[in-house]
Amino acid sequence: MSESKRKQSQGFATRAIHAAYDPLEEQGALTPPMHVTSTFAFDSAEQGAARFAGEAPGHFYSRISNPTVEILERRMASLEGAEAGLATASGMGAISALMWSLLRPGDELITDSTLYGCTHAFFHHGLAEFGIRVRHADLSQPANLEAIIGSRTRMVFFETPANPTMRLVDISAICQIAHRNGAQVAVDNTYATPVITRPIEWGADFVVHSATKYLGGHGDLVAGVLVGSEDAIRHVRLTGLKDFTGAVMSPFTAFLVMRGLKTLEIRMQRQSATALEVARWLEKQPRIQRVHYPGLESFPQHALARRQMSDYSGVIAFELKGGLAAGRELMNRLQMIHRAVSLGDAESLIQHPASMTHSILSPEERAEHGISDDLVRLSIGLETPADILADLAQALAGSGDPQVERNATSSASF
Ligand SMILES: *Cc1c(COP(=O)(O)O)cnc(C)c1O
Repeated sequence: MSESKRKQSQGFATRAIHAAYDPLEEQGALTPPMHVTSTFAFDSAEQGAARFAGEAPGHFYSRISNPTVEILERRMASLEGAEAGLATASGMGAISALMWSLLRPGDELITDSTLYGCTHAFFHHGLAEFGIRVRHADLSQPANLEAIIGSRTRMVFFETPANPTMRLVDISAICQIAHRNGAQVAVDNTYATPVITRPIEWGADFVVHSATKYLGGHGDLVAGVLVGSEDAIRHVRLTGLKDFTGAVMSPFTAFLVMRGLKTLEIRMQRQSATALEVARWLEKQPRIQRVHYPGLESFPQHALARRQMSDYSGVIAFELKGGLAAGRELMNRLQMIHRAVSLGDAESLIQHPASMTHSILSPEERAEHGISDDLVRLSIGLETPADILADLAQALAGSGDPQVERNATSSASF
Protein backbone atom coordinates (compact mmCIF):
# COMPACT_ATOMS: atom_id res chain seq x y z
CA MET A 1 0.00 0.00 0.00
CA SER A 2 1.43 3.40 -0.92
CA GLU A 3 2.15 5.95 1.78
CA SER A 4 -0.71 8.22 0.69
CA LYS A 5 -3.19 5.29 0.45
CA ARG A 6 -2.23 4.14 3.94
CA LYS A 7 -2.70 7.66 5.25
CA GLN A 8 -6.12 8.04 3.59
CA SER A 9 -7.17 4.76 5.21
CA GLN A 10 -6.42 6.16 8.66
CA GLY A 11 -9.44 7.19 10.73
CA PHE A 12 -11.06 10.61 10.49
CA ALA A 13 -9.82 11.90 13.84
CA THR A 14 -6.27 10.74 13.06
CA ARG A 15 -6.26 12.59 9.74
CA ALA A 16 -7.79 15.71 11.37
CA ILE A 17 -4.71 15.76 13.63
CA HIS A 18 -1.89 14.45 11.41
CA ALA A 19 -2.71 14.74 7.69
CA ALA A 20 -0.30 16.68 5.47
CA TYR A 21 2.26 17.48 8.18
CA ASP A 22 5.39 15.74 9.44
CA PRO A 23 7.07 17.46 12.43
CA LEU A 24 10.42 15.92 11.52
CA GLU A 25 10.48 18.07 8.40
CA GLU A 26 10.10 21.20 10.56
CA GLN A 27 12.80 20.67 13.20
CA GLY A 28 10.46 18.49 15.22
CA ALA A 29 7.92 21.25 15.81
CA LEU A 30 4.73 19.45 16.89
CA THR A 31 2.57 22.33 15.70
CA PRO A 32 2.95 23.49 12.08
CA PRO A 33 4.93 26.73 12.06
CA MET A 34 3.25 29.87 10.81
CA HIS A 35 4.95 31.09 7.65
CA VAL A 36 4.23 34.77 8.13
CA THR A 37 5.50 35.98 4.80
CA SER A 38 3.99 37.59 1.74
CA THR A 39 6.72 36.59 -0.71
CA PHE A 40 9.20 33.76 -1.31
CA ALA A 41 12.81 34.09 -2.55
CA PHE A 42 13.93 32.19 -5.65
CA ASP A 43 17.24 30.37 -6.21
CA SER A 44 17.50 31.93 -9.62
CA ALA A 45 15.57 34.00 -12.12
CA GLU A 46 14.89 30.77 -14.00
CA GLN A 47 13.35 29.12 -10.94
CA GLY A 48 11.11 32.14 -10.35
CA ALA A 49 9.93 32.05 -13.95
CA ALA A 50 9.28 28.30 -13.72
CA ARG A 51 7.17 28.73 -10.57
CA PHE A 52 5.13 31.46 -12.19
CA ALA A 53 4.61 29.27 -15.24
CA GLY A 54 3.41 26.40 -13.04
CA GLU A 55 6.34 24.28 -14.30
CA ALA A 56 8.15 24.02 -10.95
CA PRO A 57 6.58 23.37 -7.54
CA GLY A 58 6.94 25.94 -4.77
CA HIS A 59 5.37 29.08 -3.45
CA PHE A 60 5.95 32.57 -4.82
CA TYR A 61 3.38 34.94 -3.29
CA SER A 62 0.90 34.34 -0.44
CA ARG A 63 -2.15 35.48 -2.43
CA ILE A 64 -1.69 32.28 -4.44
CA SER A 65 -0.39 29.85 -1.82
CA ASN A 66 1.38 29.74 1.53
CA PRO A 67 3.01 26.71 3.27
CA THR A 68 0.95 27.00 6.48
CA VAL A 69 -2.30 27.51 4.60
CA GLU A 70 -1.40 24.59 2.32
CA ILE A 71 -1.31 22.14 5.25
CA LEU A 72 -4.88 23.11 6.12
CA GLU A 73 -5.92 22.82 2.46
CA ARG A 74 -4.52 19.31 2.16
CA ARG A 75 -5.95 18.29 5.53
CA MET A 76 -9.45 19.47 4.54
CA ALA A 77 -9.19 17.65 1.20
CA SER A 78 -8.35 14.48 3.13
CA LEU A 79 -11.27 14.92 5.55
CA GLU A 80 -13.78 15.54 2.75
CA GLY A 81 -12.34 12.77 0.54
CA ALA A 82 -11.45 15.25 -2.22
CA GLU A 83 -8.32 15.57 -4.37
CA ALA A 84 -7.50 19.15 -3.42
CA GLY A 85 -8.51 22.04 -1.19
CA LEU A 86 -8.40 25.83 -1.16
CA ALA A 87 -8.57 28.00 1.96
CA THR A 88 -10.22 31.42 1.77
CA ALA A 89 -10.76 34.49 3.94
CA SER A 90 -14.39 33.55 4.70
CA GLY A 91 -17.17 31.20 3.68
CA MET A 92 -18.43 33.91 1.32
CA GLY A 93 -14.89 34.10 -0.09
CA ALA A 94 -15.02 30.38 -0.94
CA ILE A 95 -18.47 30.61 -2.54
CA SER A 96 -17.67 33.74 -4.53
CA ALA A 97 -14.22 32.51 -5.70
CA LEU A 98 -15.86 29.30 -6.93
CA MET A 99 -18.71 30.99 -8.78
CA TRP A 100 -16.64 33.79 -10.37
CA SER A 101 -14.19 31.14 -11.61
CA LEU A 102 -16.71 28.77 -13.18
CA LEU A 103 -19.73 30.79 -14.34
CA ARG A 104 -19.94 32.98 -17.44
CA PRO A 105 -22.67 35.30 -18.71
CA GLY A 106 -25.43 33.15 -20.18
CA ASP A 107 -24.76 30.27 -17.79
CA GLU A 108 -27.46 29.19 -15.41
CA LEU A 109 -27.06 28.51 -11.68
CA ILE A 110 -29.81 26.57 -9.92
CA THR A 111 -29.92 26.80 -6.13
CA ASP A 112 -32.08 25.42 -3.40
CA SER A 113 -34.74 27.88 -2.27
CA THR A 114 -33.37 27.94 1.29
CA LEU A 115 -29.89 29.44 1.59
CA TYR A 116 -27.76 31.36 4.06
CA GLY A 117 -28.81 35.04 3.67
CA CYS A 118 -25.55 36.41 2.21
CA THR A 119 -25.24 33.48 -0.22
CA HIS A 120 -28.75 34.28 -1.42
CA ALA A 121 -27.78 37.95 -1.78
CA PHE A 122 -24.57 37.14 -3.69
CA PHE A 123 -26.40 34.87 -6.14
CA HIS A 124 -29.59 36.84 -6.67
CA HIS A 125 -28.32 40.39 -6.26
CA GLY A 126 -24.66 39.87 -7.35
CA LEU A 127 -24.15 37.16 -9.97
CA ALA A 128 -27.57 37.83 -11.50
CA GLU A 129 -26.46 41.37 -12.42
CA PHE A 130 -23.54 39.99 -14.44
CA GLY A 131 -25.63 38.01 -16.89
CA ILE A 132 -25.76 34.75 -14.98
CA ARG A 133 -29.26 33.36 -14.77
CA VAL A 134 -29.98 32.40 -11.17
CA ARG A 135 -33.00 30.20 -10.55
CA HIS A 136 -34.14 28.44 -7.43
CA ALA A 137 -36.34 25.51 -6.56
CA ASP A 138 -37.15 23.44 -3.50
CA LEU A 139 -34.40 20.86 -4.00
CA SER A 140 -35.63 18.74 -1.09
CA GLN A 141 -37.82 17.34 -3.90
CA PRO A 142 -35.36 16.20 -6.64
CA ALA A 143 -38.20 16.23 -9.18
CA ASN A 144 -38.19 20.03 -8.91
CA LEU A 145 -34.64 20.09 -10.29
CA GLU A 146 -35.58 17.71 -13.10
CA ALA A 147 -38.38 20.11 -14.03
CA ILE A 148 -36.20 23.21 -14.53
CA ILE A 149 -32.68 21.98 -15.36
CA GLY A 150 -31.61 22.72 -18.93
CA SER A 151 -28.68 22.77 -21.33
CA ARG A 152 -27.44 26.11 -19.95
CA THR A 153 -27.39 24.90 -16.33
CA ARG A 154 -23.74 24.91 -15.35
CA MET A 155 -23.99 24.53 -11.58
CA VAL A 156 -26.39 23.36 -8.87
CA PHE A 157 -25.80 24.69 -5.35
CA PHE A 158 -27.43 23.84 -2.03
CA GLU A 159 -26.90 23.48 1.71
CA THR A 160 -27.83 20.35 3.65
CA PRO A 161 -29.02 20.87 6.34
CA ALA A 162 -30.11 24.29 5.04
CA ASN A 163 -29.64 27.44 7.10
CA PRO A 164 -31.87 28.13 9.03
CA THR A 165 -34.74 25.66 8.50
CA MET A 166 -32.65 22.43 8.77
CA ARG A 167 -34.34 21.06 5.63
CA LEU A 168 -32.24 18.37 3.92
CA VAL A 169 -31.37 17.73 0.30
CA ASP A 170 -30.68 14.22 -1.06
CA ILE A 171 -27.16 14.77 -2.39
CA SER A 172 -26.97 11.60 -4.45
CA ALA A 173 -30.36 12.14 -6.15
CA ILE A 174 -29.50 15.75 -7.05
CA CYS A 175 -26.03 14.80 -8.35
CA GLN A 176 -27.48 12.14 -10.66
CA ILE A 177 -29.90 14.60 -12.25
CA ALA A 178 -27.28 17.37 -12.50
CA HIS A 179 -24.58 15.16 -14.01
CA ARG A 180 -26.99 13.61 -16.51
CA ASN A 181 -27.63 17.18 -17.69
CA GLY A 182 -23.98 18.22 -17.81
CA ALA A 183 -24.06 20.41 -14.68
CA GLN A 184 -21.75 20.33 -11.67
CA VAL A 185 -22.85 20.26 -8.03
CA ALA A 186 -21.49 22.33 -5.13
CA VAL A 187 -22.66 21.59 -1.58
CA ASP A 188 -22.33 23.96 1.38
CA ASN A 189 -21.40 21.47 4.15
CA THR A 190 -21.06 24.06 6.94
CA TYR A 191 -23.82 22.56 9.10
CA ALA A 192 -22.95 18.87 8.85
CA THR A 193 -19.14 19.06 8.53
CA PRO A 194 -17.26 16.06 7.07
CA VAL A 195 -17.68 14.30 10.43
CA ILE A 196 -21.37 13.82 9.61
CA THR A 197 -21.72 14.04 5.81
CA ARG A 198 -19.10 13.86 3.04
CA PRO A 199 -20.87 15.16 -0.10
CA ILE A 200 -18.02 14.11 -2.46
CA GLU A 201 -18.76 10.47 -1.52
CA TRP A 202 -22.38 11.03 -2.60
CA GLY A 203 -21.25 12.42 -5.97
CA ALA A 204 -20.76 16.18 -5.41
CA ASP A 205 -18.07 18.02 -7.40
CA PHE A 206 -17.35 20.73 -4.83
CA VAL A 207 -17.83 21.26 -1.12
CA VAL A 208 -17.69 24.71 0.47
CA HIS A 209 -17.48 25.61 4.13
CA SER A 210 -17.81 28.55 6.36
CA ALA A 211 -14.86 27.44 8.53
CA THR A 212 -15.95 30.25 10.84
CA LYS A 213 -18.46 27.79 12.28
CA TYR A 214 -17.70 24.18 13.34
CA LEU A 215 -14.29 23.77 11.65
CA GLY A 216 -12.77 26.63 13.63
CA GLY A 217 -15.22 25.86 16.40
CA HIS A 218 -14.27 28.54 18.90
CA GLY A 219 -15.87 31.74 17.59
CA ASP A 220 -12.50 33.42 17.17
CA LEU A 221 -11.99 33.56 13.40
CA VAL A 222 -13.66 34.11 10.01
CA ALA A 223 -12.59 31.64 7.32
CA GLY A 224 -13.70 29.49 4.39
CA VAL A 225 -12.67 26.30 2.61
CA LEU A 226 -13.41 24.86 -0.83
CA VAL A 227 -12.54 21.31 -1.95
CA GLY A 228 -12.85 19.57 -5.32
CA SER A 229 -10.78 17.96 -8.06
CA GLU A 230 -7.11 18.85 -8.49
CA ASP A 231 -7.71 20.60 -11.85
CA ALA A 232 -10.78 22.54 -10.75
CA ILE A 233 -9.13 23.75 -7.54
CA ARG A 234 -6.04 24.89 -9.45
CA HIS A 235 -8.32 26.85 -11.79
CA VAL A 236 -10.19 28.50 -8.88
CA ARG A 237 -6.90 29.29 -7.14
CA LEU A 238 -5.42 31.00 -10.21
CA THR A 239 -8.57 32.92 -11.20
CA GLY A 240 -11.31 33.29 -8.56
CA LEU A 241 -8.92 33.51 -5.64
CA LYS A 242 -5.78 35.12 -7.11
CA ASP A 243 -7.35 37.66 -9.47
CA PHE A 244 -11.11 38.02 -8.98
CA THR A 245 -11.64 38.13 -5.21
CA GLY A 246 -8.21 38.09 -3.53
CA ALA A 247 -10.05 36.48 -0.59
CA VAL A 248 -7.02 34.65 0.82
CA MET A 249 -6.65 33.16 4.28
CA SER A 250 -3.82 34.37 6.52
CA PRO A 251 -1.32 31.86 7.99
CA PHE A 252 -2.54 32.77 11.48
CA THR A 253 -6.13 31.91 10.59
CA ALA A 254 -4.95 28.61 9.04
CA PHE A 255 -3.12 27.86 12.30
CA LEU A 256 -6.31 28.49 14.31
CA VAL A 257 -8.52 26.42 11.98
CA MET A 258 -6.05 23.52 12.25
CA ARG A 259 -6.18 23.78 16.03
CA GLY A 260 -9.97 23.59 15.78
CA LEU A 261 -9.86 20.58 13.46
CA LYS A 262 -8.01 18.49 16.06
CA THR A 263 -11.17 18.38 18.20
CA LEU A 264 -13.74 18.53 15.37
CA GLU A 265 -14.90 14.93 15.69
CA ILE A 266 -15.38 14.95 19.47
CA ARG A 267 -17.02 18.38 19.35
CA MET A 268 -19.50 17.25 16.69
CA GLN A 269 -20.30 14.11 18.67
CA ARG A 270 -20.89 16.08 21.87
CA GLN A 271 -22.84 18.90 20.21
CA SER A 272 -24.99 16.38 18.30
CA ALA A 273 -25.76 14.38 21.44
CA THR A 274 -26.71 17.48 23.43
CA ALA A 275 -28.77 18.90 20.55
CA LEU A 276 -30.77 15.67 20.27
CA GLU A 277 -31.49 15.78 23.99
CA VAL A 278 -32.52 19.45 23.83
CA ALA A 279 -34.64 18.92 20.68
CA ARG A 280 -36.50 16.02 22.32
CA TRP A 281 -37.06 18.12 25.43
CA LEU A 282 -38.25 21.17 23.45
CA GLU A 283 -40.71 19.03 21.52
CA LYS A 284 -42.44 18.14 24.80
CA GLN A 285 -42.82 21.71 26.03
CA PRO A 286 -46.39 23.02 25.81
CA ARG A 287 -45.24 26.49 24.70
CA ILE A 288 -43.32 25.13 21.69
CA GLN A 289 -45.20 24.94 18.39
CA ARG A 290 -42.71 22.96 16.30
CA VAL A 291 -39.10 21.77 16.46
CA HIS A 292 -37.00 21.32 13.30
CA TYR A 293 -34.12 18.91 13.96
CA PRO A 294 -33.08 16.05 11.63
CA GLY A 295 -32.52 13.67 14.55
CA LEU A 296 -36.17 13.77 15.66
CA GLU A 297 -38.51 11.00 14.51
CA SER A 298 -41.05 13.78 13.81
CA PHE A 299 -38.68 15.46 11.32
CA PRO A 300 -40.29 14.96 7.87
CA GLN A 301 -36.95 13.91 6.29
CA HIS A 302 -35.75 11.78 9.20
CA ALA A 303 -35.26 8.73 6.92
CA LEU A 304 -32.98 10.75 4.60
CA ALA A 305 -31.14 12.10 7.64
CA ARG A 306 -30.44 8.55 8.81
CA ARG A 307 -29.18 7.56 5.38
CA GLN A 308 -27.03 10.58 4.57
CA MET A 309 -25.86 11.77 8.00
CA SER A 310 -23.93 9.81 10.61
CA ASP A 311 -25.15 12.20 13.32
CA TYR A 312 -27.42 15.27 13.34
CA SER A 313 -25.17 18.26 14.22
CA GLY A 314 -25.81 20.91 16.84
CA VAL A 315 -28.32 23.35 15.34
CA ILE A 316 -32.01 23.32 16.21
CA ALA A 317 -34.71 25.59 14.78
CA PHE A 318 -38.06 25.98 16.50
CA GLU A 319 -41.23 28.04 16.60
CA LEU A 320 -43.06 29.08 19.74
CA LYS A 321 -46.77 29.34 20.24
CA GLY A 322 -47.34 33.09 20.31
CA GLY A 323 -45.09 33.66 17.30
CA LEU A 324 -42.40 36.31 17.04
CA ALA A 325 -43.29 38.11 20.29
CA ALA A 326 -42.99 34.88 22.26
CA GLY A 327 -39.67 34.08 20.54
CA ARG A 328 -38.27 37.49 21.44
CA GLU A 329 -39.41 37.11 25.02
CA LEU A 330 -37.72 33.71 25.27
CA MET A 331 -34.48 35.06 23.82
CA ASN A 332 -34.46 38.01 26.19
CA ARG A 333 -35.04 35.82 29.24
CA LEU A 334 -32.06 33.56 28.56
CA GLN A 335 -29.22 34.03 31.05
CA MET A 336 -26.41 31.73 29.87
CA ILE A 337 -27.22 31.17 26.19
CA HIS A 338 -25.97 34.22 24.29
CA ARG A 339 -28.08 36.17 21.84
CA ALA A 340 -25.72 36.11 18.85
CA VAL A 341 -25.52 35.02 15.22
CA SER A 342 -23.07 32.39 13.94
CA LEU A 343 -23.04 28.77 15.10
CA GLY A 344 -20.77 25.88 15.96
CA ASP A 345 -18.99 27.63 18.83
CA ALA A 346 -18.30 26.30 22.33
CA GLU A 347 -20.93 28.78 23.59
CA SER A 348 -24.61 28.10 22.93
CA LEU A 349 -26.00 30.87 20.71
CA ILE A 350 -29.55 31.84 19.83
CA GLN A 351 -30.71 34.15 17.06
CA HIS A 352 -33.78 35.21 15.10
CA PRO A 353 -33.23 34.62 11.34
CA ALA A 354 -35.97 36.96 10.05
CA SER A 355 -34.45 40.01 11.77
CA MET A 356 -30.78 38.92 11.80
CA THR A 357 -29.05 36.42 9.48
CA HIS A 358 -31.82 36.47 6.87
CA SER A 359 -32.94 40.12 7.22
CA ILE A 360 -31.24 40.76 3.85
CA LEU A 361 -34.16 38.87 2.24
CA SER A 362 -37.44 40.70 1.66
CA PRO A 363 -40.47 39.43 3.66
CA GLU A 364 -41.80 37.90 0.41
CA GLU A 365 -38.49 36.11 -0.21
CA ARG A 366 -38.40 34.81 3.35
CA ALA A 367 -41.94 33.45 3.03
CA GLU A 368 -41.03 31.80 -0.26
CA HIS A 369 -37.90 30.32 1.31
CA GLY A 370 -39.74 28.80 4.25
CA ILE A 371 -38.33 31.16 6.91
CA SER A 372 -41.24 32.19 9.12
CA ASP A 373 -41.03 35.27 11.33
CA ASP A 374 -41.57 32.96 14.32
CA LEU A 375 -38.51 30.80 13.68
CA VAL A 376 -35.74 30.88 16.31
CA ARG A 377 -32.36 29.21 15.67
CA LEU A 378 -30.38 27.69 18.52
CA SER A 379 -26.77 26.55 18.13
CA ILE A 380 -25.95 24.10 20.89
CA GLY A 381 -22.55 24.66 22.49
CA LEU A 382 -20.24 22.49 24.55
CA GLU A 383 -21.57 23.49 27.96
CA THR A 384 -22.91 20.92 30.45
CA PRO A 385 -26.19 19.76 28.83
CA ALA A 386 -28.16 20.19 32.08
CA ASP A 387 -27.19 23.88 32.18
CA ILE A 388 -28.45 24.45 28.63
CA LEU A 389 -31.75 22.76 29.49
CA ALA A 390 -32.04 24.69 32.76
CA ASP A 391 -31.56 28.03 30.99
CA LEU A 392 -34.19 27.16 28.37
CA ALA A 393 -36.56 25.90 31.07
CA GLN A 394 -36.34 29.05 33.17
CA ALA A 395 -36.74 31.24 30.07
CA LEU A 396 -39.80 29.31 28.88
CA ALA A 397 -41.33 29.40 32.34
CA GLY A 398 -40.81 33.16 32.63
CA SER A 399 -38.96 34.18 35.73
CA GLY A 400 -40.41 37.64 36.38
CA ASP A 401 -36.88 38.83 37.21
CA PRO A 402 -36.86 42.67 36.89
CA GLN A 403 -33.66 42.61 34.77
CA VAL A 404 -35.32 40.12 32.45
CA GLU A 405 -38.48 42.21 32.31
CA ARG A 406 -36.39 45.24 31.37
CA ASN A 407 -34.67 43.30 28.61
CA ALA A 408 -37.99 41.99 27.41
CA THR A 409 -39.52 45.45 27.09
CA SER A 410 -36.48 47.23 25.63
CA SER A 411 -36.22 44.84 22.70
CA ALA A 412 -38.60 46.66 20.37
CA SER A 413 -35.99 47.12 17.64
CA PHE A 414 -33.82 44.02 17.84
C1 LIG B 1 -22.01 31.52 7.92
C2 LIG B 1 -22.36 30.77 6.69
C3 LIG B 1 -21.83 31.15 5.44
C4 LIG B 1 -20.93 32.35 5.26
O1 LIG B 1 -19.69 32.13 5.85
P1 LIG B 1 -18.74 33.31 6.40
O2 LIG B 1 -17.56 32.59 6.95
O3 LIG B 1 -19.52 34.09 7.41
O4 LIG B 1 -18.40 34.16 5.20
C5 LIG B 1 -22.15 30.37 4.35
N1 LIG B 1 -22.97 29.30 4.47
C6 LIG B 1 -23.51 28.93 5.64
C7 LIG B 1 -24.41 27.75 5.70
C8 LIG B 1 -23.22 29.65 6.79
O5 LIG B 1 -23.78 29.29 7.96
